[in-house]
Amino acid sequence: MYSPQSDEIASILEKKATPERIALFALEISKRLESSHAFDKYDMPIGFERSNKAIIQCERESLHNSLKRFMTKMFLERIMKILYPDDKCGCEACGSSDTELQRAHHRDLTLDIAAMRALLKIRPDEISSVNKKALVIEFIKQHILPPWYLCERCHTKYDSKISNQSKLSKA
Ligand SMILES: [Zn+2]
Repeated sequence: MYSPQSDEIASILEKKATPERIALFALEISKRLESSHAFDKYDMPIGFERSNKAIIQCERESLHNSLKRFMTKMFLERIMKILYPDDKCGCEACGSSDTELQRAHHRDLTLDIAAMRALLKIRPDEISSVNKKALVIEFIKQHILPPWYLCERCHTKYDSKISNQSKLSKA
């Protein structure tokens, strides 16, 4: 059985991140965000007198939880059916359908990178306060790269080369 290595898997997946796939995924996320009231409870100003880095350190757990609640398995499966209407179900890297497929996250888009991109977009001056709901929504929008479905073997190999920055941020 064909078994690609870590970098090869990454390059196969990069090719699958076509502009069409990304645009479709972004559209579905926007539609869902518009109709969702899940983050209304975060409608409040945060960040007074703090640096962007300090805000992210403080909010990263909450942002991560919001993302997990938003990107439910059901939501992602619905999108995958839109993205691949004719595809047979198999690992996107090796084609195997022997084991249950796992959802792989883009390994270069760590939580801290996505959070900083989102924050810089709504708080470029690093001085004013920001609305936490706006931050959560922008953070989710940063995840427009669609997930990929991989078999366990390919997923483990793909994740084995996570950038140092994300390892540090997990410590
Ligand atoms: Zn595979």
